[in-house]
Amino acid sequence: MTTKIGKLLKNYINGEWVPSSSTTKENVYNPATGEVLAEVPLSTKEDVDLAVQAANQAFITWGKTPVPKRARILFNYQQLIIKHAEELASLITQENGKNLEEARGEVQRGLECVEFAAGAPTLMMGSVLPDIATDIESAMYRYPIGVVGGITPFNFPMMVPCWMFPLAISCGNTFVLKPSERTPLLAERLVELFTEAGLPNGVLNIVHGAHDVVNGLLEHKDIKAISFVGSQPVAEYIYKTAAANGKRVQALAGAKNHSIVLEDCHMEKAIQGIIGAAFGSAGERCMACAVVTVVDEIADEFVAKLVQAANDIKIGNGIDPDVFLGPVIRQSHLDRVKNYIELGEKEQAKLLRDGRMDVKETENGYFLGATIFDYVTKDMQIWKDEIFAPVLSIVRVKDLEEAITIANESEFANGAVLYTSSGKAVREFRETIEAGMLGVNVNIPAPMAFFPFSGWKKSFYGDLHANGKDGVEFFTRKKMMTSRWF
Ligand code: NAD
Repeated sequence: MTTKIGKLLKNYINGEWVPSSSTTKENVYNPATGEVLAEVPLSTKEDVDLAVQAANQAFITWGKTPVPKRARILFNYQQLIIKHAEELASLITQENGKNLEEARGEVQRGLECVEFAAGAPTLMMGSVLPDIATDIESAMYRYPIGVVGGITPFNFPMMVPCWMFPLAISCGNTFVLKPSERTPLLAERLVELFTEAGLPNGVLNIVHGAHDVVNGLLEHKDIKAISFVGSQPVAEYIYKTAAANGKRVQALAGAKNHSIVLEDCHMEKAIQGIIGAAFGSAGERCMACAVVTVVDEIADEFVAKLVQAANDIKIGNGIDPDVFLGPVIRQSHLDRVKNYIELGEKEQAKLLRDGRMDVKETENGYFLGATIFDYVTKDMQIWKDEIFAPVLSIVRVKDLEEAITIANESEFANGAVLYTSSGKAVREFRETIEAGMLGVNVNIPAPMAFFPFSGWKKSFYGDLHANGKDGVEFFTRKKMMTSRWF
């Protein structure tokens, strides 16, 4: 293991660890203990330029490297990730706080992206029609686009970068990654393992930092596309700025996901699912369940059982195998979340379970227990905003139609889940809900790597989603050739 625990991190440019030109830096904390794991430099536009130059140079040969040869490096990479899975998972728990089991799940999701990307020889294929007119044929050829910039959030330090660079690179592009400055360590291991797998220098580069690095990528003339995942205001800014600079952009944004619970659901399983979806990863998932809409007929029983199940949640350092609920990412985020809890009380939602009471004053980490509000309505700010924490709102409704109408009023539309045993209800849900990733009796309906991660409304800015064939389209451009032979 060669992570830089306790040290000032460096950028990875052209196959070497290079000190940032910046003197500004931030601490990287273990959010469960408050311990400083490393210092991350807030690099400059000059650092970005060095990385883009390296990536641009590497593209000349990498873009022309035969696709099966590129794919073989992805297969090596897959093997190395499997070999180092436990180390990667424990690093995720240290820098992000999610429990070890969830971290292992995240490594698996990242691995699946690498496996999908290893299918480049099939994914990169074009198409031909031999007779578009007499003696005339038409063919479509697919090519990489050049240097791609990736900007990622703190909540999935492995999976989200893996939505981007493995596929971009297997399609023949080169890449500059700016990981979240709050969780930069895992990205370093990812690049080290890819290098060990045989990736040539300059194909994947890392520039650590925050706004200046992001703006450097958005403005750089040699960056052809930007892939972003993060909060809604930043996604909107990225989308507008990257497009204004002539780049392709996919920007995956925030969410406020609704789960609808009907009277004919399997109640125990629904409760289990919602506990996992609302409080797993401390609610810091873009597919987390933030609102449960339950029909009046079963609401009292459901709510009582949900609170009971929440009382059994074990809080603590996720490295302990018995712990379910780890910390949120930073003290500043915890303070923000506590303000939302106070706001919910002011808005007259009923605070059924107060997670602030679960945590001792002496605790060094940024902990909050499962928090549940009942009688939440759609005019309340706690219903509208993404809180991104183990805070769940319950909305009571008379039926499915009302539940869908309410969910559709959210400005976000990432995921939605229905708990039911009725095929008719499932059909109504599928046809009328405005969200891009649906679940039926599945708590987190996040698509696997070979399908697009397809948020709607303010949960996504762009045309082509991350992953699946959308991802291949995003990272490639086409040539059409029409030929006649005499
Ligand atoms: P964030 O928006 O604060 O940061 C994301 C990235 O943008 C980071 O690399 C950060 O350095 C950079 N950044 C932040 N503010 C910036 C600014 N003003 N200008 C330029 N760059 C800036 O997001 P986060 O807190 O790291 O991650 C959580 C958010 O990500 C949540 O809103 C969550 O819903 C969202 N998310 C969405 C998806 C999805 O698929 N839709 C997946 C994961 C996370």
